[in-house]
This record gives sequence, C-alpha cells and structure tokens, in this order.
Amino acid sequence: MQELIERHRQDAAEGKLAYESCRACDHHQAFVRGFCSRCGSEDLEWKTAAGGGRVAAHSVLHRAPTPDYREKVPYAIALVDLDEGMRVMGHAGLDLKPGERVSLSFAPHGERSLLRFDRSSREE
Ligand SMILES: [Zn+2]
Repeated sequence: MQELIERHRQDAAEGKLAYESCRACDHHQAFVRGFCSRCGSEDLEWKTAAGGGRVAAHSVLHRAPTPDYREKVPYAIALVDLDEGMRVMGHAGLDLKPGERVSLSFAPHGERSLLRFDRSSREE
C-alpha cells in the first residue's frame, strides 16, 4: 500500500494524475486503495488520467485554511468530474462556473504538487 501511495506521489510530481481502474467491474477511482471501492476486487490496473473534465462545483476562498496558503488568497477550489468518471478536488481559476470544460495541470506548493484546473481552450 505504501508503495502505491509513493507511486501516486511520484506521478503527481511528473505532472500525471494516476488512478486505479478495476479489471473486474471497470470502476475507476482517484484515491489509491489497493482494492476496488465498488466490487472489492484487488485486480486493479494503474492508469493515467488524460486531464480533461467538467466543473461540478466551484467555490472561491477568501480566508486561508493554514498560514502557507495566505499568499494565495483569494483562490478557488473546484470539484471536477474527470472524463474517466472520477470526481476530484483541485485548485481552479477564479471565474470558472459549473458545467465548464477544464483541463488539469499541477501547481507546485512547497514540497507538494497541487491539482489545478483551468478553462479548457477547446470546448467539447
Ligand atoms: Zn470493481
């Protein structure tokens, strides 16, 4: 399990959002679990998300949750439904609206790499 989490971090550092895909029921999950959250199978495949999705919810934050976010205020958080079917949360452009197409990038934040969504240049 620790090995999987490490691999997920490493992929994020390289700008890739990895996810688990279940060979038994074709369920996709963004969180590394080592088993399928739908059917319980451990027959999972490691895949990389293409990065496209649609905004499900969007919220602008004016207060930082921790001091290291203070310089980012105001910033936006979005829930995004990726084309692969998973819902993930990430930082986002301030003016996005639910339903808009977005594309994924990664923004460095200290030692970590944060998901970031911005309006997609191509509308589908
Ligand atoms: Zn499954």
